[in-house]
Amino acid sequence: MSTIEMKNIVKKYGDGFPAVNDVTIDVADGEFLILVGPSGCGKSTLLRMIVGLEDITSGDMMIGGKRVNDLAPRDRNLAMVFQNYALHPHLTVYENIAFPLRLAGASNDEVDRKVREASKTLELDEHLERKPANLSGGQRQRVAMGRAIVRDAEAFLFDEPLSNLDAKLRGQMRTEIARLQKRLGITTVYVTHDQTEAMTLGDRVAVLKRGVLQQLATPRELYTNPGNLFVAGFIGSPPMNFLPATVEGNQVKLPFGTVTIPEDRARKAQGKGLLIAGIRPEHFEDASVVETKREGSTFRAPVDVVEWLGNEAYAYIPFEAPAEVQAQLAELERDLDGESLRTQLIVSLDGASRIKEGDEAEIWVDAAKMHLFDPTSGENLTVDLSAAGEIPSRTETAQVAEAQDSIATPGEQEAATDS
Ligand code: ATP
Repeated sequence: MSTIEMKNIVKKYGDGFPAVNDVTIDVADGEFLILVGPSGCGKSTLLRMIVGLEDITSGDMMIGGKRVNDLAPRDRNLAMVFQNYALHPHLTVYENIAFPLRLAGASNDEVDRKVREASKTLELDEHLERKPANLSGGQRQRVAMGRAIVRDAEAFLFDEPLSNLDAKLRGQMRTEIARLQKRLGITTVYVTHDQTEAMTLGDRVAVLKRGVLQQLATPRELYTNPGNLFVAGFIGSPPMNFLPATVEGNQVKLPFGTVTIPEDRARKAQGKGLLIAGIRPEHFEDASVVETKREGSTFRAPVDVVEWLGNEAYAYIPFEAPAEVQAQLAELERDLDGESLRTQLIVSLDGASRIKEGDEAEIWVDAAKMHLFDPTSGENLTVDLSAAGEIPSRTETAQVAEAQDSIATPGEQEAATDS
């Protein structure tokens, strides 16, 4: 097992477009790190550079403290677990797991010892003589992992391993991978576009957008202290609600009324003009089920749809974002693959709430949890930096993004991002 250090990694393809742009991430020995972001953010490219399937344009890739930029994939001793598991259909489970050892010319004794060890860990003992076609998706995944284990690989690399599976199996496999990873204690880098997978599996999560690292933090840190508008919108389901806001002292004026927030959260927002407030669905509630002693503000709003899930309900409140913030929210929607942010508020209600469709409901909001974002840079002005993990310096990130956005031709782009 090993550490993996990515230092200022850049990848430009032939047209000069930086698919990965100055990414620095340290993965600790035994850590489970997730690379997450929408389609095209560069997460697979980064994984392929770790394993050696893609050349690195600049930066250093270190495995176990050793620079591996120029090492062939087979000399990096990493185990890539592919989406389709890449098992040999005509070989038994035993021979599939043994495959890398046979290739390396191991003795029959060694093969047998290692295969049986791995099969015990992976609970595959009773399946050793079966063929992959007769296994469930979960069992096939374990065989693929067994093949990685017998090689004593330095790390496991997963590229969207669960995306072909139905929702139920995906849930089961997720738990299984988490359990095995903890048991084996093997350094793991896992690529997904699914924020639920990212949040439930990772010790830490690296959020990428257009090749640039946005934030590297534990799932809890990402959720409670998103560094910018993009991370705030990407992490959480249903997503955070975004509203226009202006701040004076510790009073925040929102479309549905004025609320009070703690002074320390309002400090950086002073004198900034129009901002974007972010409030998660669960920071609202049906005012009639909130204990009176809980601080917060209330407002009345028309509810057009209620989805009751038993333990909780989601109420949808029609809402048209004003023109001043439409452009920023439209861009965020594009970045988030079309998630609708501009036409409704989603409010989570206690299962005991009696609010129904068509009501003019009284809604309570926990304003102390509200985030305030600069609409131009996207920076979270309320974030507690000491609890937000790593947020790459904004100026650096902004410069890179600006360079990317403002340059017309690939040739010019190459020149500008090189300098
Ligand atoms: P997805 O989830 O859709 O696989 P991703 O986040 O894994 O997306 P990458 O596959 O890493 O994204 O691609 C990042 C960017 O690099 C994209 O804009 C993609 O079009 C571009 N890209 C990827 N491979 C190549 C290539 N061989 N040549 C040119 N551009 C490429």
